[in-house]
Amino acid sequence: MEPITALLALAAVLFVGAFIVQPFFNAEGGERAGRERRRAASALRQRADLLAERNRVYAAIRDLDFDYKTNKVSDEEYAEQRYRLVAEGVEILQMLDALPADDPDADPLEAMIARYRRGEGVVLAPEPAPARAAAARAARYCPRCGAAAQAGDRFCGSCGTRL
Ligand SMILES: [Zn+2]
Repeated sequence: MEPITALLALAAVLFVGAFIVQPFFNAEGGERAGRERRRAASALRQRADLLAERNRVYAAIRDLDFDYKTNKVSDEEYAEQRYRLVAEGVEILQMLDALPADDPDADPLEAMIARYRRGEGVVLAPEPAPARAAAARAARYCPRCGAAAQAGDRFCGSCGTRL
């Protein structure tokens, strides 16, 4: 093997090796963050699974009702199957309710609903940020000389004109 080829091969090995080792370093560094992320992701996945299950049960109930109306199932069969489906649906809804509250940052609407359920006030429009309010206060200028003035100033600090 020529030296240059050997060097390239070595570089390739190191490059691939770095990729293989990288996750382990990351896992050490951000283990806590990773755990949080995984928990949130698993809750999201659980919720998605339950919602899919719920939709499946709803569809099954609709189908069953349709079959009953078109005389495809007997009274007893209908009553028995519908009871089973509704019980299944209730169970799924209870599991959905039991899931941990969503990360407020993940979905502002969900967070708002959660606040509303807790009986806290719901703010529909964001309040002006303090920085913006301060900027608005500071944005006063003397009508005569144009010098900047503070909110509480009654006279221009530059020329003495009444503000
Ligand atoms: Zn002035």
